[in-house]
Amino acid sequence: MADPRPASTLLQGFLTDVVAVESIAAVPTILDVVCQTTGMGFAAIARVTDDRWVACAVKDDIAFGLEPGGELSLETTICHEIRQSGTAVVIDHVAEDPAFCGHHTPARYGFQSYISMPIVLPDGTFFGTLCAIDPKPAKLNTPAIVGMFKMFADLIGFHLDANQSLASRTAERDLYENIVQSDTAPICVFDTEYRLIAFNKAHNDEFFRVNGFTTKVGDIFPDLFIPEQAAVMRANMARALAGEAYKVEAVFGRAEFGQPCWEITYTPLRDAAGKVFGAFHQAHDISARLRAEAELQDAQDVLRQSQKLEVIGQLTGGVAHDFNNLLTVIKSSTDLLKRPDLAEARRGRYIEAISDTVDRAAKLTGQLLAFARRQTLQPKVFAACDSVRVLSEMLGTLTGSRIRVVTELPENDCFVNADPNQFDTALVNMAVNARDAMEGEGQLTVRVRAVERMPPVRAHPAVDGPFVAVSISDTGVGMTPETLGRIFEPFFTTKAVGQGTGLGLSQVFGFAKQSQGEVVVESVVGQGTTFTLYLPRVGGAIQAPERGEPTPVVDGHGTCVLVVEDNVEVGTFATQALAELGFATVWAADAGEALAELADDAGRFDVVFTDVMMPGMNGVDLAREIRRRHPGLPVILTSGYSHVLAQTGTGGFELLQKPYSVEQLSRTLLAVAMPDRTKRISDE
Ligand code: ADP
Ligand code: MG
Repeated sequence: MADPRPASTLLQGFLTDVVAVESIAAVPTILDVVCQTTGMGFAAIARVTDDRWVACAVKDDIAFGLEPGGELSLETTICHEIRQSGTAVVIDHVAEDPAFCGHHTPARYGFQSYISMPIVLPDGTFFGTLCAIDPKPAKLNTPAIVGMFKMFADLIGFHLDANQSLASRTAERDLYENIVQSDTAPICVFDTEYRLIAFNKAHNDEFFRVNGFTTKVGDIFPDLFIPEQAAVMRANMARALAGEAYKVEAVFGRAEFGQPCWEITYTPLRDAAGKVFGAFHQAHDISARLRAEAELQDAQDVLRQSQKLEVIGQLTGGVAHDFNNLLTVIKSSTDLLKRPDLAEARRGRYIEAISDTVDRAAKLTGQLLAFARRQTLQPKVFAACDSVRVLSEMLGTLTGSRIRVVTELPENDCFVNADPNQFDTALVNMAVNARDAMEGEGQLTVRVRAVERMPPVRAHPAVDGPFVAVSISDTGVGMTPETLGRIFEPFFTTKAVGQGTGLGLSQVFGFAKQSQGEVVVESVVGQGTTFTLYLPRVGGAIQAPERGEPTPVVDGHGTCVLVVEDNVEVGTFATQALAELGFATVWAADAGEALAELADDAGRFDVVFTDVMMPGMNGVDLAREIRRRHPGLPVILTSGYSHVLAQTGTGGFELLQKPYSVEQLSRTLLAVAMPDRTKRISDE
């Protein structure tokens, strides 16, 4: 039979058994009582295994010669047989006992009386024996003596078991305590009154580090914190005590010791009936991690910004070229207009040409500025086709006239949830590469498709699900497998210095990944390349309201406008145009003048119309000041592009984008100055 006790016991030999028996306080008394009651001279408690007999406790008045830890050869003992049979052996007088008179054991050890009672642990395991011997015969086989031995053996078995389970429970407890104590994360346990019941070393080390003193059992934990943190701590603990296991991040500690941010995990503690009797938390100082994340975020922002600048550089070249063309149209139109005796019809055509050209120029700068505005990654649902449509109009500017741009869009809008600016940037990056690959001549195809599956790519398996696939194909030089393997690395470029930065495709790749998408490339050397951007397809967004027919220019009806504009040309134009439309105007050249006019008599104005970029106080600050001093007076801002707006927004004020048409100007002014009137006019 295998020994059921832990292997460690066997490894240590029998020392544990000897100690276990010795630790039972009653053992010497038991051995004394046994000897006195029976008149025998030697009594012992022995541990008997299937191959050893070891004395654990001994009373020896006959110089038998055994001590605790002493051993007899198992085969020479009767205990060996008792272990197998599990029953006691009692011999009053060996010489007269038919079963034992010829037995080798009495002969060997020279005894005439013998009694041995098995010690069995409560779980039924055989431990050993309680035995006694003497050279003289003794009267043992009586119910009283056998009963006494049985009772003592049971008592010893019971104690051994109790001590053993206590020891293993203590060991287990020590183990857990060691684990908790050596954990570097602060752990503390509290009861339903918010009192500390227990904590580990790290708890007090860390508490001291950030608060300058330590805690003790019985402290009302939240009360140890500065007031605003005490409230937070109490609320956190209350949640756990209400039975919720959860995680929070919060700042704890005093300013003078640094106030780290902690991630704290709460776990309620329940009794057998499931009732919460307390809870514990484990805390981690995550300040360093948060700092690292912020730094990474900053680094990524910088990278994104340089990727964007790269694209803007590309676009600016194209725009500048186109702009010169547009300016040429305007210049020649104005030259023609100056000619005397111009027929009215011609005159109209030239004016029309100028107006159209200005619209196109405005659109170009608008698109360029939309790119340039620094925006953080902000996913939103938008129609990919709309973006592609707007962008493909610009691609011609980018690629030059000998490259044909073909756009293939599906009938239905495909919606994606991604950052629209990054989406545009990615398309421009791929288009610029396509242009470069074609060396000035070929076809660039932009295609949008709704697909149900993303093909396997770079060791990733195929992914099922609705996707939008946007591909840009060129008929250019293509790529070798070596180049293909590296194109997404930041700064990898095969282009000459000044021609390429190697940032384009890393932006495309980063954008695809951030948007839970992928970018797939197919390329054949000498034939061309197709880049396909896969983005998860989502349900439609709210449809933008349909634009109605443009309404004719509205009349100012004597509405009084305070125009704030530092540029003389623009100011002259605005005031003259407004006067022609029936507005009354006062023109201030900067914020100071404007505030002076208002201080004079604010009541004469219906609305203030101010430029944003001005020397001195800017338009946004002026608008705020006016709102403060003259709360009822509406303010409209106007700007081409301003870093003030890019950084702080319009502060809630209406913005009219430059360049604006006279019609837009009057409409906006009226809408803001007298909303009721405008409504009536447009209802008519
Ligand atoms: P850059 O354009 O500044 O070199 P990119 O990251 O945009 O950086 O592109 C990296 C490289 O990938 C390019 O230098 C070029 O070798 C290759 N490449 C990208 N797109 C194409 C394409 N459409 N056809 C051929 N080669 C391409
Ligand atoms: Mg590129």
